Amino acid sequence: MGDAKFVRTTISIIKADVGSLVGHHIVPEPLLEIGRQNLESAQQDGLINNFYVFNAGDDLELLMVHEKGEKNQEIHSLAWETFQSAAKKAKDLKLYGAGQDLIKNAFSGNVRGLGPGVAEMEIEERGSDPMIAFAADKTSAGAFNYPMYRIFADPMNTAGLVIDPAMFEGFKFEVLDTKENKKVVLKSPSEIHAIIGLLGSSSRYSISRIWRTKDNLLCAVTSTTKLSLIAGKYIGKDDPVAVVRAQHGLPAVGEVLVPFLHTYFV
Ligand SMILES: [Mg+2]
Repeated sequence: MGDAKFVRTTISIIKADVGSLVGHHIVPEPLLEIGRQNLESAQQDGLINNFYVFNAGDDLELLMVHEKGEKNQEIHSLAWETFQSAAKKAKDLKLYGAGQDLIKNAFSGNVRGLGPGVAEMEIEERGSDPMIAFAADKTSAGAFNYPMYRIFADPMNTAGLVIDPAMFEGFKFEVLDTKENKKVVLKSPSEIHAIIGLLGSSSRYSISRIWRTKDNLLCAVTSTTKLSLIAGKYIGKDDPVAVVRAQHGLPAVGEVLVPFLHTYFV
């Protein structure tokens, strides 16, 4: 905690639907290229260390690794300007839903509340720090609730909860009430029934953060933006993204992936 010899690294995924081919289907190559060009330029300028631009259906996903911390104005501005450029391109190409998720015009330092979804975690990197990014399309904000529960709270999924002293005390879940904008932190296993009670209402409650109880190590973050509530009316889907750390005192990569072998209506 706060050891000066460790550089703190931030992983940010910022995403938005700014236009897609033939209905809400897929981000076309020219928009992905705008994302890659802008982030490559930011990498050359030293603002970010690395990046990966991808899509989940009609959502343009900007994954950035940097040392600026969460909610950083320069990083959010980079994403916002990239989405603006991509939305303009989408309009020029007469794509479907051009600029759909950019529901407010005035950028004031942070994309939260403007439409894009954000999942960010600032961490001290372990020697090797395996991470998995998840992105879902055509779903609800709480789509990752059940998989996250399985990964970090279900010993029938994650054997480490029983056999690894680092995980034996379990994990803490921050659950967001996206309707009343409240949050609560619940511990697994002692408050497991309360966690399940909330997670079942995946359109209202979302797991936003997960820490390892033993040492408060941040293990997972998800985006929790509710476009419909920001806009005051239904605008689009609240397609979420998530970042999960794995291995060495955390669930193994296989245990992180297993819950996604099954498909669920969410
Ligand atoms: Mg979408």
